[in-house]
Amino acid sequence: MLEDVIIAIAAFVVASGGTAAVVVLRGRRAGQGGQAGRGAGTAGGRAAGTPGQAGREQAGAAAGTGVIEAPPPAAEPAAPAAPAAPEVERPPPSAGRLARLRGRLARSQSGFGSALLSLLSAGRLDDETWQEIEDTLITADMGVGPARQLTDALRTQVKITGTRDPGEVRAMLREQMVAQVGLDLDRSLHAQRHGDLPAVLLVVGVNGTGKTTTCGKLARVLAGDGRSVLLGAADTFRAAAADQLQTWGERVGARTVRSDREGADPASVAFEAVSEGIEAGVDAVIVDTAGRLHTKTGLMDELGKIKRVVEKRAPVDEVLLVLDATTGQNGLRQARVFAEAVDVTGIVLTKLDGTAKGGIVVAVQRELGVPVKLIGLGEGPDDLAPFEPGAFVDAILGS
Ligand code: GDP
Repeated sequence: MLEDVIIAIAAFVVASGGTAAVVVLRGRRAGQGGQAGRGAGTAGGRAAGTPGQAGREQAGAAAGTGVIEAPPPAAEPAAPAAPAAPEVERPPPSAGRLARLRGRLARSQSGFGSALLSLLSAGRLDDETWQEIEDTLITADMGVGPARQLTDALRTQVKITGTRDPGEVRAMLREQMVAQVGLDLDRSLHAQRHGDLPAVLLVVGVNGTGKTTTCGKLARVLAGDGRSVLLGAADTFRAAAADQLQTWGERVGARTVRSDREGADPASVAFEAVSEGIEAGVDAVIVDTAGRLHTKTGLMDELGKIKRVVEKRAPVDEVLLVLDATTGQNGLRQARVFAEAVDVTGIVLTKLDGTAKGGIVVAVQRELGVPVKLIGLGEGPDDLAPFEPGAFVDAILGS
């Protein structure tokens, strides 16, 4: 039965001079070409994939071998001859994102903020209650030292003012929390061109923390603020990472420089990315690096080399360490190792939408002496927000 159908189609193709086969293969090309475009790449990323070409080669090869496939269902609309260029999006500006995304924090942090507020508004504020307040802060990963400091300062303030008014006590708690998070740190992202050179941002961190996603989201933050960006896929140990980055880049019209060889030297990809960024005159080059935490020496060698090699072309303006906020003490240990391997200039805390442990912001800053500059509040493309202490504390307290 099946053979009869194939023979009949073959006869039809021969009779129609092969047009049926071409139509079928054209129909397949648009989809396959798009895939190939994402997966393809050339050394140094000179051409980030030519989607149509891969499809054409496939069509030619299939036609040459005389493979004939069943026609698509009649209802399917005819595919365009060439895949349309992906539409370039203009993401929203970064200002005020944290306030817009506050619901993500308020929801997941309800335990932390509201527990503190209900303890403070309890009838009596005795030793036991203050101890509970301190414990709540420690449970939220703030760290023992900062938790004690905050509790002591608040206790003194409450005692001096003699107030029990819930609104006033809440305002004092807010003030102390903001003080612990730190208002005096420079959280600006150094992503402006200087002279003839683009800003260079290296993004480091352990795989799985959201590093590659953060590079993509960061490209959107900068594009949303009107800056042009080029991406460097120096995480050459995961082919998927380069594909992922390229897809993010395409959405905002940012080119991705990558290697087509898995395991290629990350430093040379980073070098090439910065060189092309200089040539193209972009505002910022974001380089995704490999996040294998093999040995500390290995990590130091690798990140050190990337930085040294890149600096032959342009200074590195930011080394952003991506940490998963849900990993607590383990995340802090990772942070320590990275900080010893390379001079971290800012922290990106991801997955704060999925944890009730927002105190980690305080702990990690203390640990590294480096400010949290961005936070991840979800998997959506624009769920990365510049960190603002006041808006963060307000979200946690649900005010
Ligand atoms: P990498 O291995 O460090 O490069 O990690 P990826 O960028 O591939 O991200 C790992 C996973 O974390 C993906 O499923 C991301 O969508 C997810 N992820 C990244 N940032 C966030 C965030 O802020 N919130 C949530 N909920 N998920 C995130």
